[in-house]
Order: sequence, then C-alpha cells, then structure tokens
Amino acid sequence: MTAYNISQKLKNYQIMAKKSLGQNFIFDENILRKIVGFAGDISVGQVLEIGPGPGGLTQAILEAGAAEVVAVEKDPRFSPILNELKELFPNRLSVLIKDALELNLREITASPLKIIANLPYQISTAVLIKWLNEEICHSNCKSLTLMFQKEVAERIVAGPGSKKRSRLSLMTELHTDAKIVLNIPPGCFTPKPKVDSSVVHFDVLESPKYHLDPSKLNNILRYAFNQRRKMLKSSLKPIYPNVTQALNAVGIIETQRPESLELKKFCDLSLLDI
Ligand code: SAM
Repeated sequence: MTAYNISQKLKNYQIMAKKSLGQNFIFDENILRKIVGFAGDISVGQVLEIGPGPGGLTQAILEAGAAEVVAVEKDPRFSPILNELKELFPNRLSVLIKDALELNLREITASPLKIIANLPYQISTAVLIKWLNEEICHSNCKSLTLMFQKEVAERIVAGPGSKKRSRLSLMTELHTDAKIVLNIPPGCFTPKPKVDSSVVHFDVLESPKYHLDPSKLNNILRYAFNQRRKMLKSSLKPIYPNVTQALNAVGIIETQRPESLELKKFCDLSLLDI
C-alpha cells in the first residue's frame, strides 16, 4: 500500500484548487475506501470516475481491485499527477481530459459499468438528470455511487409526501433504487466547502419501473414541479385543456400538489391518450 500524499502532490505541482470547478478534495484514505466499498465488487467490467482531480478516490478504486478505470477530468493541470498513478497501476487506468457533460454512457461498451464519483457541485444535478433521462436505461451501467451536497442528496431520495420531493426524486425512482449511504461533514474536504455532503448509492434497475414515453413524463414533471406550490389542476392546465378530466381519469384529486403523488400516478398520467 502506498501513501496517497495528495496534499504533497498538489504542492509539488503547485496546483491550487479552483472553486469554479468544484474542487474540494478528500485526502482521508479511510473515507475514500469507504465510498468505494459501497460500489460492491468492481473486479470485473469498468469503473467510470468523474472528476478524479489529484486522484485520491481513483487510487482507492484501483486498490479495491478495479479491473479497468476510466477517469474523466476537465482540468488538465491534474494530468501529471494522474500519469504517476497510471504508472503505479499499469494498464488499469485511462484518463480522458474532457467535460463529463459531453460523455454518453450509451457509448461505453464495457460491462458491467459502475460509476463512482465525488462530483463537482456545479454539474452534479445536470449530469445525473442527463444520465437518468437519456442514457441509463440504454447503457451497461449497473450502479452509481455519487457524492452530492447533502441538500441535493435529500431531494434525490425524497419519497411521496416529503417537502423535498422533486423531479429528480421521480426520475431516480423510475430507473434506480437509491439511498443515502454516508454523510460527510465539510471538515473532511480540502478546501472546506460551506455545506455538508452525502454519498448516494443507486442500483440501476434492469428496466424502468414503468414503460412510458420519457419525454411525455418529463414534460408533466416539469410543469408540476416548476410551480410546486400550486395545485395540479392549475400547474398542469397548459398540458391538459380539460385538466380535471385527465386527473380524475387516473385517480388524482385535482387539489393535490405534486410532492404528494406517487411515481405511478405521474406515469399513469403520461400514458393517458388525451
Ligand atoms: N475525485 C477527487 C476527490 O474526491 O478528492 C476530486 C473531486 S472534486 C469535488 C471534483 C472534480 O471534478 C475536480 O477535480 C474538478 O476539476 C472536476 N470537474 C469539474 N467539472 C468537471 C466537468 N465538467 N467534467 C469533468 N470533471 C470536472
């Protein structure tokens, strides 16, 4: 086992963290190993890591026995540090210097694919929505183990009736079984962020819980949650001219607000031929 010595590596290469890229690093090897542990067996297939930065989590993934790791990093300043890691683990690590938002999970042919990342906060919801909306059900992805701001993590796993229920919770529920597995205080990061963080582990379902037209469901969720304090009879009026009839047809009470509904009700609504 080699010491990670990440802070020393950052000093050697004179790299200062960039706030604009969400660069809050974890140096604590125990926490890094714990995060990787939630992904289960990674000895077959490929692990995709978003934002390896100076490579602490990357090293923990490799030490846990990952057969193949592809790490996608936007900031080229980390290339020399990541190249050192490549030498330490020959033929097991590839680094792509590019924006993770330009990746398409469908194009990754390795199977099974597991994603592990301490996501930069700026892109965390955008990247999750992109994967859930377009890609996950057509990819080889079996699980995601991802760090978010605690508040975002709570929105992702919120069930019906919760004030935190959101579009993100419903899309997550359609495609995955997700739970918060670890909370991490600001003091565990360098530099210290202002907020708490949480790791969410998602097991991707073999097929979505309901079969439907994703763009139709998305449209309904967008209208319902963009005005979440409104009753559904008002917020969904732009989609359904006879909104009462549509809501009643699937057993929704028109005065309900979006957070109180189960996923199935939204899916039934999207399947209506109106
Ligand atoms: N994995 C390291 C760790 O756990 O200590 C660093 C995590 S840090 C929170 C987020 C990383 O994502 C940074 O290295 C940052 O440069 C990178 N990043 C930011 N935006 C990105 C993007 N659009 N695509 C790929 N990487 C990005």
